[in-house]
Amino acid sequence: MTNGTATLNPSASSARSCCTPPASAPAHPKLFERVREQMDLAADAAGLAPEVRKILAAPACEVAVNFPVKMDDGRVEMFSGYRVQHNNVLGPFKGGIRYHPDVSLDEVRALAAWMTIKCALVDIPFGGGKGGVQVDPATLSRREVERMTRRFVYALGANIGPGYDVPAPDVNTDARTMAWIVDTYAATMPPQERYRALAVVTGKPVSAGGSVGREKATGQGVVDLIEMWAADHKCKVSDLTYTVQGFGKVGSWAARILKDKGAKLMAAQDVTGAVKATTPAGLDADALAEHAKKTGGVAGFPAAQAITLDQFFGVQADVFIPAALENQVTGQSARKLNVRLVAEGANGPTTPEGDAVLRERGIDVLPDVLCNAGGVIVSYFEWLQNRGGAAWNATEVDQRLREILERAYARVKGMVAEKSLDWRTAAYAVALRRIEQVYAERGIFP
Ligand code: NAD
Repeated sequence: MTNGTATLNPSASSARSCCTPPASAPAHPKLFERVREQMDLAADAAGLAPEVRKILAAPACEVAVNFPVKMDDGRVEMFSGYRVQHNNVLGPFKGGIRYHPDVSLDEVRALAAWMTIKCALVDIPFGGGKGGVQVDPATLSRREVERMTRRFVYALGANIGPGYDVPAPDVNTDARTMAWIVDTYAATMPPQERYRALAVVTGKPVSAGGSVGREKATGQGVVDLIEMWAADHKCKVSDLTYTVQGFGKVGSWAARILKDKGAKLMAAQDVTGAVKATTPAGLDADALAEHAKKTGGVAGFPAAQAITLDQFFGVQADVFIPAALENQVTGQSARKLNVRLVAEGANGPTTPEGDAVLRERGIDVLPDVLCNAGGVIVSYFEWLQNRGGAAWNATEVDQRLREILERAYARVKGMVAEKSLDWRTAAYAVALRRIEQVYAERGIFP
């Protein structure tokens, strides 16, 4: 295990200042504390060795960088970014990079820890990492976002790398962002080494070393898991209705794949507003995705009724898919939900109070660490393809994804039955046992 400092290159060492968030960082209170509490609960249930708890209670390494970017009008602005490397006992750190004004060290820590749990749960050879820049990219031009991305990567220096820490897209970053990262990273390598640069990130455009199926992978995984839940509840996906919060990469793909399977989208909500179907046939998820792409959100979608956030949470459906940000299903909103299943596409969408209300009301939960793991699984496939010089086809990607998710679903279901746990605690318990096993076999250096 690598605990403490990473190997740094000169560009990184000058910019790196461990653990100190800039004074302007907004408070994102207690998100990492919440992950630790969730881990403790599961560790108690699984009877976990105390050392493993201690190790996972703090990230292995935290990188904070403040870096300048030239704006289009000639001004120079400073930006703050983070990369948190939570644990790498199972393999290289892995996790997305987010651009959002609320990004904070605490949030990135929590997101990195969730990646550790997720990779262990689905049993792929990666650890947990996450990164972010505190910025609203909608206020920047495309060229400014590109320069900011490149300068952030330069500031991170050797803190990322194909065999060490492998970022991917997250909120407000996409395949194009990943292509800029590869290009910048490659430019800092000696020419003879550049062939390795492709595997420094996943989620790249297919034409630039990405994997087929990665763009839709997280949404595909959400749908695969809803199908497994439906089979257990003796119903068919084609008979289900659903609502989606967040119509970006995860939400829109989940909605479109569900539409293809005959399920009906009853309402959608994002940062621009909320819309509801006016007929039982539901909203056209493909047309809504097209509209959101063109206009920046779901608001104003023709042939739909505009509703408030409160009304959105109350819309009747079988499944609610949160696919936006953390802390959306609170005690209050969980009381309004009129669904049978919450399938968590987002990371950390449900607060502990929300969880308690869902349990009390008998609403099932497919927890984030299981439900949105499709993204990191296909990222793993992309990394393997890059390192092996291979290109898998869509059927191969979808089949292998499904197999891994089926195994993970079965393991969590088994733990639910074995220990009489809720699905979230059971998922954590499966993951923690996997990590405990490796520490038991490898020991702690020296
Ligand atoms: P995205 O940037 O593509 O989309 C984010 C969506 O959330 C947008 O529709 C936006 O309008 C909406 N949103 C933002 N703030 C909101 C608010 N306050 N209320 C309602 N909606 C809001 O991001 P994404 O990649 O789809 O990620 C969404 C979630 O899924 C995040 O929690 C992310 O960590 C998680 N996730 C993403 C992936 C991935 O592969 N991209 C994988 C696993 C988990």
